[in-house]
Amino acid sequence: MDRNEARIRIDELRETLRENSRRYYVENAPTMSDYEYDHLMYELEDLEKQFPEFITPDSPTRIVGSDLEDSSTSGKALTGHRKEFEQYPHKYPMLSLGNTYSMDEVLEFTSRAAKALGSKEFSYSCELKFDGTAICLTYRNGRLLKALTRGDGVVGDDVTENAMRISNIPVTLKGSGYPEEFEIRGEVLMPYKEFDRLNQERIDEEEPPFANPRNAASGSLKLLDPEEVGRRGLWCTLYHIPSPDISFRTHDEAMRAAASWGLPISDKREICRSAEEIENYINRWDKERKFLPYATDGIVIKINELEYQTELGYTSKFPRWAVAYKFQAERALTKLESIVYQVGRTGAVTPVANLAPVQLSGTVVKRATLNNAGMMEQMDIRTGDSVYVEKGGEIIPKITGVELSERPADSVRPVFPEICPDCGTPLVKEDGGAKYFCPNQDGCPMQIKGRLLHFLSRKAMNVIAGEATVEQLFNLDMVRTPADFYDLKRNDLLRLEGWKERMADRFLSSLRDSRKTGFDRVLFALGIRYVGETTAKSAAKYFGNIDRISSASMEELLAVPDIGEVIAESIYNYFRKPEHIVEIQRLRAAGLKMSMDAPEENLSEALKGLSIVISGNFSISRDEMKELITLHGGRNSSSLSSRTSYLLAGTKPGPEKMKKAEQLGIKVISEDEFRKMLPEGSLPENREEEEEYTDLFGGLI
Ligand code: NAD
Repeated sequence: MDRNEARIRIDELRETLRENSRRYYVENAPTMSDYEYDHLMYELEDLEKQFPEFITPDSPTRIVGSDLEDSSTSGKALTGHRKEFEQYPHKYPMLSLGNTYSMDEVLEFTSRAAKALGSKEFSYSCELKFDGTAICLTYRNGRLLKALTRGDGVVGDDVTENAMRISNIPVTLKGSGYPEEFEIRGEVLMPYKEFDRLNQERIDEEEPPFANPRNAASGSLKLLDPEEVGRRGLWCTLYHIPSPDISFRTHDEAMRAAASWGLPISDKREICRSAEEIENYINRWDKERKFLPYATDGIVIKINELEYQTELGYTSKFPRWAVAYKFQAERALTKLESIVYQVGRTGAVTPVANLAPVQLSGTVVKRATLNNAGMMEQMDIRTGDSVYVEKGGEIIPKITGVELSERPADSVRPVFPEICPDCGTPLVKEDGGAKYFCPNQDGCPMQIKGRLLHFLSRKAMNVIAGEATVEQLFNLDMVRTPADFYDLKRNDLLRLEGWKERMADRFLSSLRDSRKTGFDRVLFALGIRYVGETTAKSAAKYFGNIDRISSASMEELLAVPDIGEVIAESIYNYFRKPEHIVEIQRLRAAGLKMSMDAPEENLSEALKGLSIVISGNFSISRDEMKELITLHGGRNSSSLSSRTSYLLAGTKPGPEKMKKAEQLGIKVISEDEFRKMLPEGSLPENREEEEEYTDLFGGLI
């Protein structure tokens, strides 16, 4: 690969990894398997090693994935810019773990450690790698003080109230000898049984089920209602005390002590002294983990002696004294019956395999993607072969290998088409040579239909319509570009086969509603090549409106966070095409948002710098009360801490909150006292008074 190809691939990998990291950590809805994500990360690491001039400090290879919502996705409810959880910095950064799927690399880790530590004697703590979401608990004087999520590794969300609802997290420690204040870290998990129950409930209520227990655990820990968290049946296991000043000699001693204080520590840990013992532990648990009531995705191997951990230290992303060996995802073996070639909205031609139906992680799989021609060649895959299939997130499963020992004599080597299977245009190689594309962007029906579907999709304009509608409207020449949707008339739709009044009204009203979609999503919906949700959000926020984006120079585009040269070039070229400018004018005329909404103006700064926790009921709804706080410059917080300014207590405040406020010496104020803090004339009506007033007159008349 030459320098230019490497630069293109690096940009593409970073965009894909960032996008999928957000889906995984923030939305809890991954669409890619961990295996695939990890291998894209390895590819990026290798390219950055080969071309160090392209390394940037914010590359996904250098920073941990963040579960913090950015301001544009949070606080959707009323204020538009409210963070749901108070955030606090971690005392010690919460990092990730270096990971590998190869036993050889585990052995390399042990020899590296042995070399670095020279003649010193040391051991390894081997542990299960629990597949949940990380949590950091702080205990002070034997009581749970704070629970933070990993966040971006530097600051985390304060989920203390929720953690208190997890049955095996003790609020008070038992025994003695614990430090006055210390942190302990671990994982919050959702056991399979609870996961199945929760998903069944969600399916019954027509809500989308969670993809896996990890996403369910992470989504549940971030719920705003602690009572609901309590009902989710979460479970915690702790595995690390990060304080460098604790007096233990080994990690094992620290874990034993923590267990004696009543903290949940896994009893599956084992101290190993050689690579062979580590290998035995891994092989044993690769089998036995299938009988555990919760998900694990690997084994963690840590240097046991704390002094040597300090000596080996950390990179910006991982400790150097630990490594995770990840288990292969569950896979099934089945027959490859045929290969078809699909053209996507960007023109990329993807080979898709038709398979003999096979059961995999609870569903029947009949189709799987083969990614690209290079991958087919690499695997030397043939029709008739027995192939391994894996699943990840919600996406179409993937073929990951061929069982050559089962290859039949009459297997057929597939020939990748040279022309577009849809429009017959000769294909070209792009993207550093990995993929074939149909260059007929404006004439290839599959690409046009793909772009229309993308425009309507849930993450873009969220219009209720599927493939069949797009196919029908396209075939009848009624829709060629997204703007055509907004010209459709009810009577035209009612003349079409299969359209009833209800269906037409639902479609048109959904199109009408889509006009309220935020500008960042409109930008994403345009389907500009390489502009995923994350990039669209960054660009929309940075430029504020479409005119500034369309007239931006390459230099200006490159100044946007997350935008590298490939993406900048793609955006720049998009706006140089006259037909795209016409399309944008038509969409603007149809009423779509072409600029960011102006941030809400605060009514006053009366509560500036104050952090307020509310509890109980008020004369207005709780959401309205929270909005009132933000509108006067204050901050809402869901839990009390030493940084809380007031506990605003309505009728029936939570007894736990009142007690904690007293313990922390936080002033409790009533609704009346609170209202007096706000400037006169800026208050919404107090409905209780209003009601009393009408009652009074009611009584008199
Ligand atoms: P990780 O899950 O690979 O490993 C680190 C984490 O393991 C720690 O932060 C800790 O929370 C956990 N852990 C569990 N048991 C442990 C133990 N006994 N000791 C120490 N730690 C233990 O790393 P990560 O940074 O949380 O996540 C990165 C991984 O997430 C990627 O490697 C990838 O597999 C996955 N991911 C997937 C997607 C996707 O789209 N599928 C996107 C982003 C990330």
